[in-house]
Amino acid sequence: MTALVDVEALDRWIREFAGQVAAHKELLTQLDAAIGDADHGANMDRGMTAVVAALDGSPPANAALLLKQVGMTLVSTVGGASGPLYGTFFLRMATASGEVTALDGQAFAKALRAGLEGVVSRGKAEAGDKTMYDALAPAVEALEGALSAAAPLTEALTEALRAATRAAEDGRDATIAMLARKGRASYLGERSVGHQDPGATSAALLVAAAATALAQS
Ligand code: ADP
Ligand code: MG
Repeated sequence: MTALVDVEALDRWIREFAGQVAAHKELLTQLDAAIGDADHGANMDRGMTAVVAALDGSPPANAALLLKQVGMTLVSTVGGASGPLYGTFFLRMATASGEVTALDGQAFAKALRAGLEGVVSRGKAEAGDKTMYDALAPAVEALEGALSAAAPLTEALTEALRAATRAAEDGRDATIAMLARKGRASYLGERSVGHQDPGATSAALLVAAAATALAQS
């Protein structure tokens, strides 16, 4: 079988995301300062630093264990709205993946879809509410669309993840014009318009990290 996302590839993805969060910590904080409480960069960096330490300490044997470890660590180390939301995302991904040592492109897309549904069941966000959903949902849709149109080759997953990244970044940029209806930013009402959502920004980094890390597999 081709287009395998094995445990090592998932580990690369998570570490790449941690690196991207660290590199963009100030940006995430500045965005949250404008429409929230200026802690999104610190929250995500604290969580992903703990995630990398946990992966170093006990390397998980299969996809479900790895993703579960990521989710549990985020829930327990990230305060604020984003901890339970990202935590649920990875915990649902873990359940959807199962105790396997590798996923093909379709199974990876299915796990991401399950993660997105977890974010919705926890946070009740809809399209246009100016949240991480507005970056994640278009990315999952683009990934599914690109995979269904393509032959199941490694290059197809790489291309599909690039399409997903573009969709996530377009979704992130579209949050600038949105009026926040969920989370702290919603307290600002009209004053939230004109600012990019911090959670949509970190979510676009998560998708871009997959394109970078999984292209090598
Ligand atoms: P807090 O808002 O508690 O300070 P963070 O600053 O870490 O937490 O995260 C804020 C981000 O969380 C927002 O930019 C938004 O993308 C996301 N968010 C907040 N509430 C929700 C929700 N109900 N559903 C989806 N995402 C949400
Ligand atoms: Mg905040």
